[in-house]
Amino acid sequence: RQNERDSLYIVLNFAQKYYQNLLMEHEEGQSIGLSYFRNRGFNDPTIKSFGLGYSLTDWDGLTKEAAKKGYNPELLEKAGLTLHKEGDAQANRATRYYDRFRGRVIFPIHNVSGKVIAFGARILSADKSQPKYINSPETDVYHKSKILYGIYQAKNAIRQEDVCYLVEGYTDVISLHQAGIQNVAASSGTSLTEEQIKLIARFTNNITILYDGDAAGIKAALRGLDMVLEEGLNVSLVTLPDGEDPDSYVYKVGAEGFKKHVQQATKDFITFKTEMLLKDAGDNPFKRAEAINEIVTSITKISDPIKRQIFFKRTADLMKMDEQTLISEGNKHLRRRE
Ligand code: ATP
Ligand code: MN
Ligand code: MN
Ligand code: MN
Repeated sequence: RQNERDSLYIVLNFAQKYYQNLLMEHEEGQSIGLSYFRNRGFNDPTIKSFGLGYSLTDWDGLTKEAAKKGYNPELLEKAGLTLHKEGDAQANRATRYYDRFRGRVIFPIHNVSGKVIAFGARILSADKSQPKYINSPETDVYHKSKILYGIYQAKNAIRQEDVCYLVEGYTDVISLHQAGIQNVAASSGTSLTEEQIKLIARFTNNITILYDGDAAGIKAALRGLDMVLEEGLNVSLVTLPDGEDPDSYVYKVGAEGFKKHVQQATKDFITFKTEMLLKDAGDNPFKRAEAINEIVTSITKISDPIKRQIFFKRTADLMKMDEQTLISEGNKHLRRRE
């Protein structure tokens, strides 16, 4: 098994170098891929440190190059790099493989120790019939729910700063790095998992969620927040103006402007939830009660009774509620779960 995984690492590393070389040296890669990244404001050291690449529009650029180098075609498929038409194997002729990633810019995904385990690939045109991003499938070395994009590049800074910024996308991680915020990793658009939080917990107990400033981002943040609390970590949140994500916003306001925003807009989860839920509730007493219940539910996810006590007190103050009522309501939830 370990041998098999090692072979996957080797072929994935070969593919990363192949895509990177196309981006930096090949005419199509430079004129399409490199200029795309530069237009987004990524500088060359950034492009290099994330190992970004480009895949040719050809059907079999990687497939051919790998064959030339003597890599087993089945290994490439197991690594998620190539595909073949169903039925080819039954037909009495050689299986024809083709590249999974074509005509896209490439984001290698590294594991914690820096080995390439998968790729994300972004389309360059505005062609809506194609998905904006495609990713490697699950393989023996890539389990999407267990990894965060950028964790390898971020881990030392996360330890040092004792907080991890959690963003949605590849480009959010990259742009924040370039702006000097290096303690950042991305859940890559999927909902946060227990394993991903445990991965962060190897480096810090503090997570700040910094998702896109749209309805989907807020919804994902509310869900992520409860997950983090359940794992026993501390969680804060930063909201961005509507329609902005960390990448677009740092491009707009610059590194210093972004850091200032983070400083001013960081909220603990109670304040965040209160604001989000009460905005909808207005003066409607039923909706207010529902909102308060929601917050109580979040608090009961915290296993540390001292922290729980502190947050009940904060909620009571914020909501102008009697603290004992909140606590006894919370205790009902806790008992139900036992
Ligand atoms: P960009 O700035 O390049 O448009 P983004 O990161 O802002 O990218 P979002 O639409 O905010 O893109 O999505 C967040 C993340 O979700 C992406 O970085 C990617 O990891 C993932 N994602 C987005 N669209 C898809 C898709 N169609 N298929 C798979 N993953 C996707
Ligand atoms: Mn989004
Ligand atoms: Mn985004
Ligand atoms: Mn974006």
